[in-house]
Formats: sequence, structure tokens, C-alpha cells
Amino acid sequence: MEELPITKNMIKTVYLAKPRGFCAGVNRAVASVEAALKHFGSPLYVRHQIVHNHHVVADFEKRGVVFVEELVQVPSGCRVIISAHGAGPKVYKEALKRQLHVIDATCPLVTKVHTEVKQAVQNGYFVLYIGHRGHPETEGVLGEVPTDMITLLETKDDAKQVAPLQTEKLIVLSQTTLSFDDTQEIMTVLENRFPNLTKPSAADICYATQNRQKAVKALTEKTPVILVIGSKESSNSNRLKDVASAAGAYAYLIDDISELHPQWLESTSSVGITAGASVPEYVITQAVNYFTNQGAAVEEINTVTEAAITFTLPKELYESA
Ligand code: SF4
Repeated sequence: MEELPITKNMIKTVYLAKPRGFCAGVNRAVASVEAALKHFGSPLYVRHQIVHNHHVVADFEKRGVVFVEELVQVPSGCRVIISAHGAGPKVYKEALKRQLHVIDATCPLVTKVHTEVKQAVQNGYFVLYIGHRGHPETEGVLGEVPTDMITLLETKDDAKQVAPLQTEKLIVLSQTTLSFDDTQEIMTVLENRFPNLTKPSAADICYATQNRQKAVKALTEKTPVILVIGSKESSNSNRLKDVASAAGAYAYLIDDISELHPQWLESTSSVGITAGASVPEYVITQAVNYFTNQGAAVEEINTVTEAAITFTLPKELYESA
């Protein structure tokens, strides 16, 4: 990495969020590509970025992995991995038609929401789905059921205006990587409007998203400036920035420390660092080292003790290993 300018104002303390960085779903997706490379070699295709992180993607690209947005870009008969964000049934049908060997690295917590949506519609419910239009996870989930049985809500205003086909059997579900607080606000609007509204038994916003949001909130009590490490496409990283900003901090989303603007730190002697669920630990370490090399001390702020969750690799890897 290029040498960065020394910050004018010396940072004395780096507050480092815990938990931060890789979650169980990202670990599984990255390990799936590693295992597929090892067992099958090239050519290996991945539909969409395996996880939304430029460093992870660039590293795999260097090793011969080809990332595509549509399966039509994958030659017939080749092997393709579905990214952690999942995909709708159309994608799997197309893969079958084109005789592609699919390795499904969809995070099991995303799969859980796909299942909830399908079961809800089978049981006669109309689904209100809170998510971001255009995000691959949202697109995949919406594709599971007929379009007249589900409505996407992105904002509180959407929740105020939505007019579902029926309100007797109505359920609200959500993308896994949203802001917990914003989603609760949308839910409250819906609950006030629709007394029969059913909520999922367990939160759709995943444990990793919730824990990282609690952790970044705790950082804002320590320091006014927060660096959120993560790529611009990463939903959960963007939400960490939003949560920090909503708590009153100056929050900046950077892919790595080379994107730091020293003027962000001109009026502070401390800085908080966290990272989205798709950021490798070495990128976080580089950022921390940048400050410790200039004499800063590091204090880890441990907010939530995260259970050591691991997901087994996709069955297609076992079957072919
Ligand atoms: S952020 Fe949550 S839903 Fe997304 S991959 Fe990680 S554990 Fe799975």
C-alpha cells in the first residue's frame, strides 16, 4: 500500500469495535470459493461478488475466479458459485437448463428468509418485505413468490402508504443486513396500521448485523469520529455508517486505510474503527497499524460476546470432494 500522509493532529487512542468484520455467512462463502478452487481448479465462476468486499473479490480474481452478474456469462457445463446474498428460483432454473454445476454459498440466514417468504405465501399471507431495491438479497427473496403477494418497503413513508391486497393475513419480513433501529421504526408504523400483522418468530436482521451495530453505537460514546471499513456495495457496512451518524458521530465508509482523508481527524485526538461483516481482518489490522505506528494506543470496546457460529460448507462441495 502507498505510504499515507501522517495525520496533522496526533491520534492518541484508537477505539476498536468488537465484534467487527467477518461473520459466519461470509466465512462460509469465502471458504466455499477456497474449497472449490482447491477441488476443481479453474474455470470457476461466481455469480455476483461472493461477498461485498473489493479486497476479497480482487484476491480471488488474481487466482483465476471469474465474477459474473448473469449466468448467461457462464459457459454451459461450467461450475458456478451463488454468492452469500442468494438468488431467486429463476437463477437456479436457468443453471439447470444450461447444465451448470451450482455450488450454493447463500448464507443460511438469508435462506431462512427465503423459506419464511415462501411458507407465508403458501399459508395465504400477504408479505410486506423491508429491504433495499436492487440489492441481490432483496431481488432473490422477491423472486420467490408471485409479485402480487409481496410488496417491498424501503422507508417509513412506504410503510405509511402501503395498501396490501388483504390485511387479515399479513406478515412483515426483512432483509438480513438492515439498520435494526430503522427497521423497528418501520415495523411500528405497520403495527399501528395493521393490528393483525404477524412478525417473524426470530428477527430476520441477522445476529452479525445486530451485534456490529451495537458495537459501533458503543464507539460513538467514546469518540466523535468513526471509520467504518467496508465497500460501498456492502449493505451492512453502509448501515454501520448510518448507525454511527444517527448517534451523532462523524462517520466515514472506507475500503481501507488508503482512503483516509487526514482532515477528517483534524479536531480529534481519538478515532473509532469498525468493519462490516465482509471485511477481512488484515484490512482492519492495516488501519489500526497506521495509527499505532504514529504512537496511538488501542482500546478494544467489547460490546457483545458473539457466539462462535459456524456454518457447514455447501453440500455440493462434500458430494464432489
Ligand atoms: S451478514 Fe448476516 S446474513 Fe449476511 S452473510 Fe453475514 S451472517 Fe449471513
